[in-house]
Amino acid sequence: MAAAPAAQQQQQQQQQQQQQQQQQQQQQQQVQPCRYKTGKTLGAGSYSVVKECVHIDTGRYYAAKVINKRLMAGREHMVRNEIAVLKRVSMGHQNILTLVDYFETMNNLYLVTDLALGGELFDRICRKGSYFESDAADLVRATLSAVAYLHDHGIVHRDLKPENLLFRTPEDNADLLIADFGLSRIMDEEQFHVLTTTCGTPGYMAPEIFKKSGHGKPVDVWAIGVITYFLLCGYTPFDRDSNLEEMQAILIADYSFTPMEYWRGVSLTARRFIKRCLTIDPTERMTAHEALAHEWIAGPSTGRGDEDLLPTVKKNFNARRTLHKAIDTVRAINQLRAGGLGMMDGALSTKPAQHNGKEGGNRKAPDEVQPHQEHVNEDVEMPDAASSDPRGLGHGQTEAQMQEQQRRVAATTLGMWQNKNKPQAT
Ligand code: ADP
Ligand code: MG
Repeated sequence: MAAAPAAQQQQQQQQQQQQQQQQQQQQQQQVQPCRYKTGKTLGAGSYSVVKECVHIDTGRYYAAKVINKRLMAGREHMVRNEIAVLKRVSMGHQNILTLVDYFETMNNLYLVTDLALGGELFDRICRKGSYFESDAADLVRATLSAVAYLHDHGIVHRDLKPENLLFRTPEDNADLLIADFGLSRIMDEEQFHVLTTTCGTPGYMAPEIFKKSGHGKPVDVWAIGVITYFLLCGYTPFDRDSNLEEMQAILIADYSFTPMEYWRGVSLTARRFIKRCLTIDPTERMTAHEALAHEWIAGPSTGRGDEDLLPTVKKNFNARRTLHKAIDTVRAINQLRAGGLGMMDGALSTKPAQHNGKEGGNRKAPDEVQPHQEHVNEDVEMPDAASSDPRGLGHGQTEAQMQEQQRRVAATTLGMWQNKNKPQAT
């Protein structure tokens, strides 16, 4: 039997009132004054700008990774990954960046992490007075220990490279931190996607990444091999004129410890370590734990070279940096000509934000995603999503050239992986 129309109306009205109340409550929750004020730019990555920020209530400094939602189209998964990974491993290891807070505003997404005041790995080395093989081994050990921890937790970083390794403080004994979990994947999540050439940095990618099959933890050990090589001479093992040549070199592990003049001071133990990381077959490659136990890492310092590597490493690194700067400049000019956004730093001072007296402390459970009021500096200009990865887009190639390159890489890859006699570097 149908309810009387009057009763029905009353019920509907009650429901509407309830809904309105709920909406009001939600809105009140959403309008939270921002607790942070952003400051100078610390760095820019493939899909974000990282800014210094201060927690208004406590005056404590942090780093805020600012990700513009409009430019995230198709890359949301990277942010979600990063949050998920940091939530799982944050605070669990001294060599992993801590996630302090995260929230979104209307335009941006903010990941607030510890501030790494010691700068990027290589800049720091270049500022040192001297630098020995044992120093490199210490840096690799710290990185490996964090990587082993990640692997034990079922996480593959997938984007290990010097720019993603930061020092916590400027002090000599500062912790090295793994930052940037944008490309990480929690292993048992969905199936892996094959990274394309526009994702990540070819120079540090393992051969199996170009293969159309899954790739897991071993890709991080490969990257550690490339980083170690780089730490000992100041250039990467597969550095070639184009991404295609670089990938072809990676697929057959075509590298050597040359020119001789730069490798004379480097021990055979170090070279053996690199070789065990840069092993084409991922199942034969060392694991992170095996790498930690390798003679070069775990053994006595007598097994390592005792020459000061700084002059060579610095010279080679700076030469490459100048070259990359020139390439980036050409690319920026081309982007401007094409009417693109380019990479610009829109750092401006912010209006002081008010707060409602609600003390949240500076460490909030990262589960609460709280949309804040737009007090944080929203003038941050973001890299253009379509042209944002200054490293992955090849050396100033056009879209058509990149497509052609990808096609050729696919063809090459197919050929390479059908060949069972994989050559190895000697
Ligand atoms: P992306 O994922 O876009 O590559 P990253 O997390 O690698 O972004 O950050 C880009 C750069 O910003 C880093 O290379 C580093 O120079 C700087 N940066 C990132 N996080 C911090 C931090 N916590 N403290 C200081 N500088 C940072
Ligand atoms: Mg990065």
